[in-house]
Amino acid sequence: MHELEYDIVIVGSGAGGGAVAKELAPLCSEGVRVAVLEWGSKLRQDEYTGREVEMAGKLYFDSGGVLTKDRTMTLAYGRAYGGSTVVYTGTSLSMPAEVVDRWGVPGLDHGDLQERSRKYLVENNVHLLEEDELNDNNRLFRDGCAKMGYRVEQFPINVKDCRSSSLCNLGCPNGAKQGTHQVQLPVAEAGGVEVITNCKVENVDQQEVIATVANPDYGEPSAWQPGKYRVKAKVVVVSGGAVNSPALLLRSGFGRTLPMLGRYLTLHPALILVGEHAQPISNFAGHPKSFYCDEFWRSHGFLLETCMYFPFTTSKNMIGFGAEHSELMRAFPRLQMILVLALDPARADNRVLVDREGEPVVDYTLTDDVLDSLHESMKTSARIFFAAGATRVHAPAGKRFLINAEDADRIDDLIPRAKVKPGKISITSAHLMGGCRMGSDASDSVTDTWG
Ligand SMILES: Cc1cc2nc3c(=O)[nH]c(=O)nc-3n(C[C@H](O)[C@H](O)[C@H](O)COP(=O)(O)OP(=O)(O)OC[C@H]3O[C@@H](n4cnc5c(N)ncnc54)[C@H](O)[C@@H]3O)c2cc1C
Ligand code: SF4
Repeated sequence: MHELEYDIVIVGSGAGGGAVAKELAPLCSEGVRVAVLEWGSKLRQDEYTGREVEMAGKLYFDSGGVLTKDRTMTLAYGRAYGGSTVVYTGTSLSMPAEVVDRWGVPGLDHGDLQERSRKYLVENNVHLLEEDELNDNNRLFRDGCAKMGYRVEQFPINVKDCRSSSLCNLGCPNGAKQGTHQVQLPVAEAGGVEVITNCKVENVDQQEVIATVANPDYGEPSAWQPGKYRVKAKVVVVSGGAVNSPALLLRSGFGRTLPMLGRYLTLHPALILVGEHAQPISNFAGHPKSFYCDEFWRSHGFLLETCMYFPFTTSKNMIGFGAEHSELMRAFPRLQMILVLALDPARADNRVLVDREGEPVVDYTLTDDVLDSLHESMKTSARIFFAAGATRVHAPAGKRFLINAEDADRIDDLIPRAKVKPGKISITSAHLMGGCRMGSDASDSVTDTWG
């Protein structure tokens, strides 16, 4: 076992860990030693090939298809230098006051968060795209919503010299997306922070971590030789994401003193819906996500966004098999897509556990309220597709594989609530939150207001 010593060790280099590393970097000039230990790899720019299955394998845990315990959902989160920001879409909203109020964390102040957000909006080059940078898929969503009388907002996004390749969720091949890997981590490293990739932290104590370095056959080699390490530190920052932070702390024994550890996980259960147009539209060129509709947040608990997924992901999210499934996939250049997100409440029994080997298990139940929201969202999306000119719509809980435009006024009948069943439709999540909730003391939370 190699023995090393640092002042501060940060576990994970994503949106959380990368930002902490950058903020602490100025201390390095005073002799403070800071290391970021990151499980994932740092791909070379020429390794971002845009090939779906290959990129998913290199940049996500379980290729973006981590199954929940009851196997009714798949979860996507990144494993890379820069964490999920390497594969996220880059939409960059600041937290609304209503959300901060709903969280009700003592001492968490909306004004203070706004101030901090503003800094990152500048740092990460967040802005609105111009009209001529929007593709048909996005414009059709805006038009369809306008015809239905639904309010639409434009997402601010964090790109620089975007070349419209639409590959954001497979890692940007053009270095245009301004994620943590592109902005905060390079600044941290220039300031003296050491980032150790291909380094999985197995266990953590208040002042020590045990980690294993293994070099896969892609990406830049780790700064450390393969092998096992004991790293002493005065401070350990755990920022491994909503699943892996609680999992690491649980397998390290912190569950004994922190009964809420792993609990209150929320996922924003999501569906990908498609509408088919008669003519090709620009869908797989252009930034994929420009608009959202939050008209139904308070009344029905869901949000709608534009999206454009790659062939494998799209085909897995449709239900059905055989000829009709492949016919719709062949219509890929004519497909319009909407992503639906159900806004699930934080519940103590939705949580991360660890199995006997210390591996994370996500125990999450899709409640009737969430299924009601997904049902409403499917019907609403179908109406938007038809209003935008789609000729046919695939709704995962539809009575038929495809609903024709002539039947648009029968949507309530053709998409019945009874068919919205866990395990029968393909529900995913890329918005994992919670597991280490903030609060006032260990009886109701894992961290304080400062995380
Ligand atoms: C496909 C996709 C699209 C998204 N789109 C958006 C978007 O457009 N806008 C938005 O605001 N959010 C988006 N998100 C969500 C956003 O990316 C996450 O909320 C955010 O990155 C979470 O930050 P984090 O630091 O908690 O975790 P992550 O960014 O996931 O980083 C955690 C890192 O820790 C590492 N790690 C975990 N455990 C260990 C360990 N034991 N040892 C060493 N390293 C470890 C992981 O490998 C990972 O790199 C998206 C997410 C995905 C997956
Ligand atoms: S659309 Fe822009 S940000 Fe997204 S992958 Fe392409 S160049 Fe990168």
